[in-house]
Amino acid sequence: MIPIARPLLGEEEKSAVLGVLSSGMLAQGKKVAEFEQRFAEFIGVQHAIATSNGTTALHAALLAHNVGLGDEVITTPFSFIATANAIKMTGATPVFVDINEKTFNINPDLIEKAITSKTKAILPVHLFGLPADTEKISAIAKKHHLAVIEDACQAHGAEVAGKKVGSFGTGCFSFYATKNMTTGEGGMITTNDDAVAQQCGKLISHGSERKYYHDFIGYNYRMTDIAAAIGIEQLKKLPLFNAKRKGNAQFLAQYLQHIQGIVVPEMAVVPEINPASNLTHVFHQYTIRVTPEFPFSRDQLLQNLTENNIGTAIFYPVPIHQQKAYPEYHHLRFPVAEMAAAQVLSLPVHPGVSEEDLLFITRFIQDVEHKSRKLL
Ligand SMILES: *Cc1c(COP(=O)(O)O)cnc(C)c1O
Repeated sequence: MIPIARPLLGEEEKSAVLGVLSSGMLAQGKKVAEFEQRFAEFIGVQHAIATSNGTTALHAALLAHNVGLGDEVITTPFSFIATANAIKMTGATPVFVDINEKTFNINPDLIEKAITSKTKAILPVHLFGLPADTEKISAIAKKHHLAVIEDACQAHGAEVAGKKVGSFGTGCFSFYATKNMTTGEGGMITTNDDAVAQQCGKLISHGSERKYYHDFIGYNYRMTDIAAAIGIEQLKKLPLFNAKRKGNAQFLAQYLQHIQGIVVPEMAVVPEINPASNLTHVFHQYTIRVTPEFPFSRDQLLQNLTENNIGTAIFYPVPIHQQKAYPEYHHLRFPVAEMAAAQVLSLPVHPGVSEEDLLFITRFIQDVEHKSRKLL
């Protein structure tokens, strides 16, 4: 089976973890501090605060920007549920804005129409590793005095004009096992705002800066030194991982882009292909669209691939506004997000995928298409 995701862990991670175990200091200590410093440097921000996962990073970041009951936060309906849940957890209301069909990211041209007197922040997601339109979003946020909280949980190392995502607003990252780098479970908040950083530090540790002195009721959202030790080693390997992902994506595009009924990811935004682009895509997922011109339905193709040991997945089959957990949004329509949910299919692109695997995947899809055209 070629899995859709697989963490790459080596001797470096193993010995780092053993080092922490031998030290006997398992909770927050030196390794967390070192990981935070290295991650802040990598993203190019003043502060990084390690958390227990990406969801808690988002929750704490929103709270640190004073988002709460009665506030609205503008975001995308086409994301992992945690994006909207984190807004809900603060008591605020997610306000969804439809996506762009080429990038799968929030459509910046629809944001201003969604702004009300209650709007407190914009929460774009850099979905599948492609940066959202940070330029337009930052300009809108500035004009309306809104905070920007970036869900960069799928975009470690992605850039806009040489600047890393997570440095445009307050960034939130996840180190879940399937992400571009992992600590098993883990997260990080990145920011240049001293006050936000200080507040995040307190929020994730029961409202305290100094042990047993509590300024307000906070949470325990801390990362362990065991996780941080893995993260330090993974961060060193991240540029190599991302380069491999991009190479794999280019390979897939080369073979799949000419198949009728398959829309490959927006490779035009990859600088190697379009020098005018200033975006760096880190291909957390390689997500194609299977349109009605393809001889099989998306779900039939998925079943076919699965039966032939090619791990595929649908990210995401149900947009957030149509989830059971969000009944108050069911009457709303976001046509592009709904079309995407019906057509997307993610193929293995992670650094553990070999060239042989890629050939097998692309040949398989080409064959499926050829054979069925003959039958028609
Ligand atoms: C993974 C992910 C999260 C949540 O991260 P966890 O570490 O699983 O809590 C949030 N948003 C997006 C877009 C993600 O992919």
